[in-house]
Amino acid sequence: MVEFRAPVGTRDVLPPESARWERLVAQFAGEVERAGYGLVLSPMFEDVGVFERVGEGTDVVRKEMYDFEDKGGRRVALRPEVTASVVRAYVQHRPTPPFKAWYAAPNFRYERPQAGRFRQHHQLGVEALGTDDADLDVEVVALAWSVCAGLGLTQVTLLLNSLGDDVCRPAYLDQLRAYLGAADLCDEHSAGFGKNPLRVLDCKRNACRTATEAAPRFVDHLCEPCSAHFARVRAGLDSLGVTYTLQPRLVRGLDYYTRTTFELAAGSLDSAQNAVGGGGRYDRLAEALGGPPTPGIGFGLGAERLLLACDAEGVFGVPQSNVDVWVIDTTGGAAALGLTHDLRAAGISADRSFDGRSMKSQFKSADRSGARLALVVGDHELMASTVTLRDLRGGEQETVDRADILKHVQERLS
Ligand SMILES: [Zn+2]
Ligand SMILES: [Zn+2]
Repeated sequence: MVEFRAPVGTRDVLPPESARWERLVAQFAGEVERAGYGLVLSPMFEDVGVFERVGEGTDVVRKEMYDFEDKGGRRVALRPEVTASVVRAYVQHRPTPPFKAWYAAPNFRYERPQAGRFRQHHQLGVEALGTDDADLDVEVVALAWSVCAGLGLTQVTLLLNSLGDDVCRPAYLDQLRAYLGAADLCDEHSAGFGKNPLRVLDCKRNACRTATEAAPRFVDHLCEPCSAHFARVRAGLDSLGVTYTLQPRLVRGLDYYTRTTFELAAGSLDSAQNAVGGGGRYDRLAEALGGPPTPGIGFGLGAERLLLACDAEGVFGVPQSNVDVWVIDTTGGAAALGLTHDLRAAGISADRSFDGRSMKSQFKSADRSGARLALVVGDHELMASTVTLRDLRGGEQETVDRADILKHVQERLS
């Protein structure tokens, strides 16, 4: 029995699986940095008000927030999502807009752990603040899309909707409320849907699914500016060849979304857990956090879900090897110490065995490591100042002068 385990709903990611995480973050960073987004690091906990202000009335904030009082009596929360933190940082520091930021960071939700849902999960995302130009919506949506495509995912569907703005939303919500008031909803929602009837569109229970099939759609009730904005977003995506499906039920989990809203659904995953990410416009969020009116848009991709989708499609697998070269030394270890040092200093990845193990055992370690080359130093090589270089894939070997070994290894690896 192990005395201590990772807390419920969390997990350790160890090598070699963790190498896939590194590649995921590197690939994501490369993609978004090419589009002008810079890394932002923000605290993993915030004043609980930051999240209460933006998510009041949502399950994320009401039921799932990891909040507590710290030793100084401050009410803080481990962040349930990154957008509110980034916008809080924007309001605090007022960088010159447009402010384009990316992050790769853990989020915390105190919810029942299940497949693909963790109390600590990791998100890759971007936020762009300072303009409501529809071209920026297109850029952000296309980036999320192209990150998925870059991983090799082909069974991901882009769902798109518009949630309007303060001008057209009240009238639409009235219509929706009237419609829902006369409909047969699930137990929770027939007892009331309060301030936010949009939630009902998102309800997964059968009664609500059926009842909302013919519900009024927001896209049919947008005001003229929202309608024109949405038309430009769609035309832009069309022009870039990004295919999408209009999804009038798409409302997202937090209240602050306006206009463009989108989600990426993995067709390879179980439908209840198939959202690998999503995002949208939040033109009122900076104000909600005490800043000047500042439009913004962003997305977050769930790293765990993305990798589950990759597993399901058999793409973006765990990388094969950690090192290119394994040094085998049966003369006591001093030769291995020097050789691995020289190889690493020359930019070649190399590892070795320890504890003076047998030649056979060291070759086993070399095979297990996935290294392409083994460098062998036995008594004979030590006397002659040579190294035997063996190709672990092809099997051929040659003996070269110790002084020339780096050159030979570089040639073999290139
Ligand atoms: Zn319901
Ligand atoms: Zn509008």
